[in-house]
Amino acid sequence: MRKNIVAGNWKMNTTLAEGIVLANSLNDALTNKTVNCDVVIGVPFTHLASIAAAIDTTRIGVAAQNAANKEKGAFTGEVSAAMIASTGANYVILGHSERRTYYLETAATLKTKVEIALANQLTPIFCIGEVLDERQAGTHFEVVDAQIKESLFDLSVEDFSKLVLAYEPVWAIGTGKSATSDEAQEACAESKKLLGGMGAKSVVVLYGGSVKPDNAKELLSMDAIDGALVGGASLKADSFLQIYKSYAGI
Ligand code: PGA
Repeated sequence: MRKNIVAGNWKMNTTLAEGIVLANSLNDALTNKTVNCDVVIGVPFTHLASIAAAIDTTRIGVAAQNAANKEKGAFTGEVSAAMIASTGANYVILGHSERRTYYLETAATLKTKVEIALANQLTPIFCIGEVLDERQAGTHFEVVDAQIKESLFDLSVEDFSKLVLAYEPVWAIGTGKSATSDEAQEACAESKKLLGGMGAKSVVVLYGGSVKPDNAKELLSMDAIDGALVGGASLKADSFLQIYKSYAGI
């Protein structure tokens, strides 16, 4: 049976108190999880330890939104994968387009981050996706293929089984304009094909970019899409839970 995941990415939102309230309401709502879908919340670094302690992390996985590309040492302001794991978090979002664009994260940096995350028992949620110009030029498959190859080429088959991929077209992030289910399906299928050629047969592939309660069911019903990475709609328990519940009956 395929594994489904609905992951929230809170980005730089919520104070610690607000974050704990949101996490607790999800935790309470998911006491008797009946839908075949894992839930993960990607929270600010400052919230990781408190949220991991407040909720049942076997019910809701906790993710950081970034990690350092170094193990430890004199890197003022950075947070290592080992530190993240020590909070009780079990995932880390890496290579989000906002990190690539605003903080100039390169494929080489991300390769190191993925490897350090895996070495510290964190599941990377590795993000890829093209910008609007690339989509309009019809080069989107080449772009996502390159992003996968350049950062993940060295992983073993076992490493791949511990990785989650998120296809997030940059033009759909935070714009309210999701990819169509066919566009999302096609890109997720392309990524799976490429990963299959690299020996990775069963990587979970999520779609992200303006996933909302009203489009989630259609997107998640596509067979190459194993789940969603949700930004804006993950900041309210109701909308995030509605997206999760889209899996009921799929
Ligand atoms: P969005 O963000 O759902 O607000 O478009 C998705 C993401 O950035 O992961």
